[in-house]
Amino acid sequence: MKARVTVLGSGTSHGVPMIGCSCDVCRSADARDRRSRASIYLDVDGGPKLLVDTSTDLRQQALTHGIMRVDAILFTHSHADHVMGLDDSRRFSQMQKGAIPCYADASTVASLRRSFYYVFDPASEKGGGLPQIELHTIDGRFAVDGLVIQPIPLMHGERPILGFRFGDFAYMTDTNRVPEQAWPLLDGVQTIILGALRHRPHPTHFTVAEALGVVARLQPRQTYLTHICHDLPHAATNQALPPGVELAYDGLTFEIEAARSLAQATEGRQWT
Ligand SMILES: [Zn+2]
Ligand SMILES: [Zn+2]
Ligand SMILES: [Zn+2]
Repeated sequence: MKARVTVLGSGTSHGVPMIGCSCDVCRSADARDRRSRASIYLDVDGGPKLLVDTSTDLRQQALTHGIMRVDAILFTHSHADHVMGLDDSRRFSQMQKGAIPCYADASTVASLRRSFYYVFDPASEKGGGLPQIELHTIDGRFAVDGLVIQPIPLMHGERPILGFRFGDFAYMTDTNRVPEQAWPLLDGVQTIILGALRHRPHPTHFTVAEALGVVARLQPRQTYLTHICHDLPHAATNQALPPGVELAYDGLTFEIEAARSLAQATEGRQWT
């Protein structure tokens, strides 16, 4: 089952350019140096259309990439840059005339209920339209309209968060450690998107060198680094990366082989 991945946003929480900064990258004329907040869209052939995270820039991302449908939303964690676009999902629930299922771990579900309290309050003013979402707490592999999704436990500083594997592709942003139990779940992955903030160390994000350590162990065919800050100019950084590794950029698209059934997902691979 083929699917197309679109990188909607490849930037760190501030975005690039960053407010009030006049560094070379923030003033760059290269469109790939303009990074909105991190998110991807997954369009499965004849299957569901998924958002991973509702970034602060969701509205502009949806307009830029002509997103017409969202059948489900997966959340990696509840940091503001990954959830604050949730209110804009109401356009999709309006157009689709139904609630959008959202999948997240227990702590993110609890946090979404607090941050978007008005969505879950029956007394809320409905005049302007509220997002209609159905929150589902996930604790292991699940499926959306036949698409098998494997959550990948990751550490983001002290905070456990989720990456997601879809067939031969895994999305892992906002992490600085892949815990032992995650490695078997990533066995045989061919394409990854992996967070790499900058070269200087950071307490909750991989540096480029640390991300390359993950790549060396996983050996995917292709890696795209994401959640990038203004320290990394696109063209110059790419030149210094090893073969099969490049920086993601807003609008990057590629094809993956998604898994349709649990049997297919586990075929020849150790997923558990
Ligand atoms: Zn983030
Ligand atoms: Zn800057
Ligand atoms: Zn984060």
